Amino acid sequence: MPVSTQDDLLRRERVRLGATPSSKAAAIEEAAQLLIASGCVEPGYAQSMLRREAVANTFLGHGVVIPHGMGEDRHMVRRDGIAVVQVPGGVEWGTGQMAWLIVAIAARGDAHIAILRRLTALMQDGEKLAALAVAEDVDEIVAALAGEAPRAAPAAPAADLAHRFDFVVDYPAGLHARPATAWVEAVRQSGLRVQVRHGDEVADGRNLVALLQLGLRAGDRVVVSAEGDDAAAGLARLRARMDSLTAQEVADAAKAAARGTDATRGWTPPGPLAAIEGIGASPGIAIGRLHVVAGGAVEVADVPVSLAEGGARLEAALAATRQQLAALVDDTARRLGAADAAIFRAQAELLNDSDLITLACQLMVEGHGPAWAWNQAIERMAASLSALGNPVLAGRAADLRDVGRRVLALLDPSAVPGSLRDLPAAPCIVVAEELSPSDTAGLDLTLVVGLATAQGGPTSHTAILARTLGLPALVAGGGALLAAASGQMAILDGAAGRLYLDPPEPAIASAIAWREAMRARQAEAAQQRGAPAVTRDGHRIEIAANVNRPDQVRTALEAGGEGVGLMRTEFLFLERGATPDEDEQEAVYRAMIAALEGRPLIIRALDIGGDKQVAHLGLPREENPFLGVRGARLLLRRTDLLEPQLRAIYRAAMAGGDVSVMFPMVTSASEIVRLRAACERIRAELGAPVLPVGIMIEVPAAAVAADRLAAQCDFLSIGTNDLTQYALAIDRQNPELAAEADSLHPAVLRLIAQTVAGAAKHGRWVGVCGGIAGDPFGAALLAGLGVNELSMTPRDIAAVKARLRGSRFDELRALAARALDAATADEVRALDAGAQR
Ligand code: PEP
Ligand code: MG
Repeated sequence: MPVSTQDDLLRRERVRLGATPSSKAAAIEEAAQLLIASGCVEPGYAQSMLRREAVANTFLGHGVVIPHGMGEDRHMVRRDGIAVVQVPGGVEWGTGQMAWLIVAIAARGDAHIAILRRLTALMQDGEKLAALAVAEDVDEIVAALAGEAPRAAPAAPAADLAHRFDFVVDYPAGLHARPATAWVEAVRQSGLRVQVRHGDEVADGRNLVALLQLGLRAGDRVVVSAEGDDAAAGLARLRARMDSLTAQEVADAAKAAARGTDATRGWTPPGPLAAIEGIGASPGIAIGRLHVVAGGAVEVADVPVSLAEGGARLEAALAATRQQLAALVDDTARRLGAADAAIFRAQAELLNDSDLITLACQLMVEGHGPAWAWNQAIERMAASLSALGNPVLAGRAADLRDVGRRVLALLDPSAVPGSLRDLPAAPCIVVAEELSPSDTAGLDLTLVVGLATAQGGPTSHTAILARTLGLPALVAGGGALLAAASGQMAILDGAAGRLYLDPPEPAIASAIAWREAMRARQAEAAQQRGAPAVTRDGHRIEIAANVNRPDQVRTALEAGGEGVGLMRTEFLFLERGATPDEDEQEAVYRAMIAALEGRPLIIRALDIGGDKQVAHLGLPREENPFLGVRGARLLLRRTDLLEPQLRAIYRAAMAGGDVSVMFPMVTSASEIVRLRAACERIRAELGAPVLPVGIMIEVPAAAVAADRLAAQCDFLSIGTNDLTQYALAIDRQNPELAAEADSLHPAVLRLIAQTVAGAAKHGRWVGVCGGIAGDPFGAALLAGLGVNELSMTPRDIAAVKARLRGSRFDELRALAARALDAATADEVRALDAGAQR
């Protein structure tokens, strides 16, 4: 990537004074010419800038516009540069928008962000901008844009607190929301007052938005300072946390880069074809008629209520939203991994922003209704983030609006438009301003073949969920997308992020052919995934998927799953904010059974408590919920939860299928005896078939006494996530200790070996459904320890199968024996290198 210095970015020769373009397009042409002439971009970049303008107006405000090319045309940028065309007479940019300063940007990296930040600072200085619009000296413009950043005020320079350290941001994507959230969490944990200073700008370490507004990029140096009790030690811990994020950030950046190259692939139309450009969010080709979800704009009626009522309603909506997000974090972490789930944690953190809440309250005090006040507060904060022109912050603005809508939907459901009911009967591509996670998750996949949203980014809910569902999708398609009409024929290329409208017949034929070729290639890959995990010397390990919902089954089977080894039913409760009744539960279990077409399904009874709190159950608050009434303990106390669930499972099983019931967090044999008795009573009442009843081994006591427990049940499945936290005494949610909570710790492996030995005494099979089952090396070790079944997130299946199919069982057993003998998890992991050689 070319490196540009600040001086290099805006050179005198790229400033044109006194221009009189006849139109917006002519102004863009003129600015592009300056960039072309000085070798910043290739000819043709003006077209890219015009296309960008068609999907997103670049008017910044106060007569300033920032035209730039499409992301996918970044290869046309030879080096970062900025050109300025001054139009003293003004040129109309959009309806009612006059532009006097056209600041055209060519950027491959993020060097131009400094200029944008300076521009946004200038926006507050109307007089200065007015002067620049008629300035007759090029240097005046260069100095204003590329000179030293303006000092906030001649007042006192920003002072650091008593204890401090310098920190160079070494996260490749800068301080975006995920690491910033981790900083905020660490600061809160420290109990200290912490300040982060970048130059003259200072942010409170507890305030996520303030931290983001620093716009920190990789390489920026900040001073972190603190005051409070034992500040030095607290700061050392904070620093360790900030350092510990680097590895994940580097890995994420590599992943994002890989995704970026994906976007250059995709289908090539046979001839010129008009397209709406967005960002490729989930690859694949979808062909169908558009279904435009009406009324993207939020219209909030201002219905004032008493301040007390308004405050109470806002508080309740915020609490309920936090709960929804917690469920989403949990579900996403289990299905896609902690890194993806962190997006939702960051969104939840945005709700804690004191400026946001204060602003909403101020508006209520001024006499506005809670929904209106909240929406205004969100819009104002989001607009101020977007105005900084930093793509990272613009992404946060989208997150803020997204999370804001969740709260708004609770305050005034009629204000949030968009209905996915009334889908046409034929395959359609859903077009919307933005889709909420619940909209996306609830899509009828027999009718919806693709998604296109005007807003969002590659890490938005829509994008993540579309990838999980295997649905082609584009995001950030801009306003042009919403102008499309329902019923219009279209081709969506989810890899390239393009939506082709009204394609002619040859283009449709070509897209179908391309899609079929891709499917054939995928089928070939699936064949490998579909082959059983049999070691080279003929030992088979069952491979199942952890899946919670019927519509995820197809993807899991395509990924190579041979059944569902863990269906976490608490998500039925967590996601909806209400307890589903027996009939509703039965319908979901039936749909799971049907989707699996006779393959095994292990339904885990409710595992509530610990990290899975359900507000609407009104359970008493516990000092230490992980050691409290959770899992089986709760089920035995709350027959109002246990019995309807068991009845629903047995009723569903009457339709056939290979169903087993499994109980979480079992500690002793007496619990199994009582749970089994409940199963048998309900089964007999219904005249349902006998189902295998298994337990999860998650508590060290259960592993050690597995021989006694196995006598009472039909199978055992080890929940290594919990077993690890209890064995090592590490809270599974504590980010500080995440690296140490390694399920390959020899102590955990010994508990697994004990479980396998105990089960063998009674001829029971043992599975593992915790996260380590999806780690290829972990899976190899577990197989060597004698585990019969491994159940994991679908996307891990291919790699695990490949590893097992490439191994010999006798070697895996020897490997497992060495691992049991190791002293530390690191020593165990070091065996991997030896095993692969
Ligand atoms: C586990 O603890 O490993 C497990 C699979 O259960 P959960 O993650 O749902 O607690
Ligand atoms: Mg568990």
